[in-house]
Amino acid sequence: MKLLKDKILNEGKVIDGKILKVDSFLNHQMDVRLFNEIGKEFRERFSNDVVTKIVTIEASGIGIACMAAEHFGNVPVVFAKKTLGANIVDETYSSDVHSFTKNQCYKVKIAKRFIDNSDKVLIIDDFLANGCAALGLIDIVRQAGAEVVGVGIVIEKGFQPGRKVVEEAGVRVESLAIIEKFDNDRVIFKE
Ligand code: 5GP
Repeated sequence: MKLLKDKILNEGKVIDGKILKVDSFLNHQMDVRLFNEIGKEFRERFSNDVVTKIVTIEASGIGIACMAAEHFGNVPVVFAKKTLGANIVDETYSSDVHSFTKNQCYKVKIAKRFIDNSDKVLIIDDFLANGCAALGLIDIVRQAGAEVVGVGIVIEKGFQPGRKVVEEAGVRVESLAIIEKFDNDRVIFKE
């Protein structure tokens, strides 16, 4: 997706040779027009699939998932919570996730009443690195007896095992920009 790749090249910053900072348009300040194009592209990539719900993880996935939802016919978006607020009393599905950026484990949870076995779920997230966040969400959707249609990723770090891990779980991955490597501070895309 050229628009996205240009944005990454112009505004992305490589930190310590392993983290791409894109907080001027994706992770902190948000470029809503770009998000809309990202949502449209996800719809095209999954145009042959029925999607009844989009599942993501707080916080960075939420904006992208909401814009995508509009293109999938205004399906509901459910985001997994990383901590349980005191005001959540519902029964939940949960899964353990190891955070690549923070190097720690946390639980992700979704209230049971928001996914059921009739759902066909598209999982959306901002980055794919080691695949832990995506695997946690796949686990939750499957606990609910729902079908995982696929995983839609904005930026995949192709030199990390995330794609392999998700595909081995039997799930299709669609990434809009795939990074082959960081060459010092430069981003090199695959294809
Ligand atoms: P994974 O679970 O696939 O290892 O990592 C996915 C999560 O880690 C994403 O939801 C994202 O929040 C974060 N992440 C992984 N790599 C990067 C990166 O290079 N830059 C940023 N900004 N976040 C990343």
